Amino acid sequence: MSPDDLKDLVRTIPDFPKAGIQFRDITTLLGHGDGFAASVEWLAQAVEGAEAIAGMEARGFIFGAAVAARLRLPFLPIRKPGKLPCAVIGVDYELEYGLDRLEMDPLAVAEGQKVAIVDDLLATGGTALAATELLRKAGARVEDAAFVIDLPDLGGSGKLTRQEVAVHTLMGFE
Ligand code: IMP
Repeated sequence: MSPDDLKDLVRTIPDFPKAGIQFRDITTLLGHGDGFAASVEWLAQAVEGAEAIAGMEARGFIFGAAVAARLRLPFLPIRKPGKLPCAVIGVDYELEYGLDRLEMDPLAVAEGQKVAIVDDLLATGGTALAATELLRKAGARVEDAAFVIDLPDLGGSGKLTRQEVAVHTLMGFE
């Protein structure tokens, strides 16, 4: 399936979660067997050379875990605060309104291991940037991040590139 065919499988919901936001909903892409498989295949090729895949809760788990299994690589869950039962390291980051936090098990990464980030969507880049910082704090080398969807108007790609993370996006919505 071509990137344009895959783009047609993403549903746009106006005014979610609040007025004025055009929410790009991957539920319809996941619900299409060939479309989901083709997206995972594309992401897997984009992160070629990675030694592990990290995905952010929650939608990053769907694509990240599938890519990791496809490549037979370890999957590292990057979690919302308070979810992991073990000792964790965390990074706080700013949202449009307020703060959020990501956490992970520091023992999940070997020093110098090449970890690629996978998520469903890149908007401002705040989440992926925080994940990069967190993984680097744990000792990972983070050089690639792959997303199904880019919202280029929000500038996330530039933020990651400035941190020396190469950005790979399957499709964009202006
Ligand atoms: P960022 O941190 O601003 O780059 O936002 C990216 C995160 O917000 C990703 O983890 C997405 O799952 C989520 N997100 C933001 N906008 C949308 C959307 O339109 N559709 C689906 N997820 C979104």
